[in-house]
Amino acid sequence: MATKTKTPARTKTKSTPAASRKTPAKKDAAKELKDLFEDSLKDIYWAEKALTKALPKMQKNATDEKLKKAIGDHLNQTKEHVERLEECFKALGKKAQAKKCDAMQGLLDEGKSIMEETKPGAVRDAGIIAASQKVEHYEIATYGTLAAYAKVLKEDKCLKYLLKTLGEEKKCDELLTSIADTALNKKAMNA
Ligand code: FE
Ligand code: FE
Repeated sequence: MATKTKTPARTKTKSTPAASRKTPAKKDAAKELKDLFEDSLKDIYWAEKALTKALPKMQKNATDEKLKKAIGDHLNQTKEHVERLEECFKALGKKAQAKKCDAMQGLLDEGKSIMEETKPGAVRDAGIIAASQKVEHYEIATYGTLAAYAKVLKEDKCLKYLLKTLGEEKKCDELLTSIADTALNKKAMNA
């Protein structure tokens, strides 16, 4: 019978694991809420501009007439969203500046691949709705946060513009849900 030998306990290192360490701030990192507000405006400004280029492609790929119209209408609204953000920058006495939004880029990439991975017709339409709603939800989260910042910062002009856009993003999301619910998803199921 073999004798049991005890394995020696490993010596624990005392250094902090990387995951629990604080992320060091960049040199130009935002110090105040106002800075974070302006940075976030630059992000969504980039995102809205990117959407004015991406939506026509999505519209071209859609088959359902209601969906085509919804995307076309929202494209026109999106152009207004860009203008409203320019008004926000103006109200803050800042030059309108776009900063690449990695999250929106990711959502748009996903939208592109969903179109490549679906045959044109009801199934691709369902995919386009899914991708569009992810975009709308991102915008709703962003404008909700920006409006909350504008409120505490007492940037009333910005708040008015941000809330107007937020309302349109929510309406668009609801419309997409109703288009999917009424007919499209069933059609996609039977395709
Ligand atoms: Fe928008
Ligand atoms: Fe939108």
